[in-house]
Amino acid sequence: MSRDEVLVSCRDAALTFGRGAQAVVAVHGADLEIGTGDRLAVVGPSGSGKSSLLHLLAGLEQPTSGTVTRNPSLGPYGIGLVFQSDSLIPALNVVENAALPLVLDGRPEAEARATALASLALVDAADLADRLPEEISGGQAQRVAAARVLAQSPQLILADEPTGRLDHRTGGRVLDALLTAADHTGAALVVTTHDPAVAARLTARRTMREGRLLAPEEVS
Ligand code: ADP
Ligand code: MG
Repeated sequence: MSRDEVLVSCRDAALTFGRGAQAVVAVHGADLEIGTGDRLAVVGPSGSGKSSLLHLLAGLEQPTSGTVTRNPSLGPYGIGLVFQSDSLIPALNVVENAALPLVLDGRPEAEARATALASLALVDAADLADRLPEEISGGQAQRVAAARVLAQSPQLILADEPTGRLDHRTGGRVLDALLTAADHTGAALVVTTHDPAVAARLTARRTMREGRLLAPEEVS
């Protein structure tokens, strides 16, 4: 895939939950393009529609109107997701969690484990390999989630408030891990956050307010 190729594009993409008087417009017609190499922060207060926009990008939600188009070159593991709560499987240890997408993809177990260990090392979490999720901290779990995404070599990493529940310093290390993962795989990275310090570490920022993705020049 060449540089500057568009991976996902939203054209006037809207997402409404519910109907009639109960309808909530989570995203008003949003226009957005994510290209290879992008490092984008989507910033906004709680309830502004950040997660909804990310779910549209990921294909977890279909737009109520408008379109979201993903590049056909994005394979089944082309998009790597990291959520606010780490979503590690409690019964599997850290390296098994990191290897899981590869095992599900049918790779030999030894190869999956080796790739997962290398990914854990890159996010400075190799020493956690044999621990269970309950034996590690929230920040460590988020770094393991970053390693799991890294192991699957995605073309696009979507992280929804990955630092939301962490203190500043721990959040910084999680962001380090995601940036390392993106740099190492060449993936584009989109991070939602309400923390300006987190947003400042990405190369571009877009603001959401009450479901509207503001144009860059609208932000005061
Ligand atoms: P953010 O991630 O910025 O906190 P969300 O995208 O989660 O914002 O939510 C945007 C709006 O959509 C909020 O008003 C929220 O209550 C509403 N919303 C989100 N998900 C659902 C859902 N599954 N059903 C109904 N309303 C929802
Ligand atoms: Mg959210």
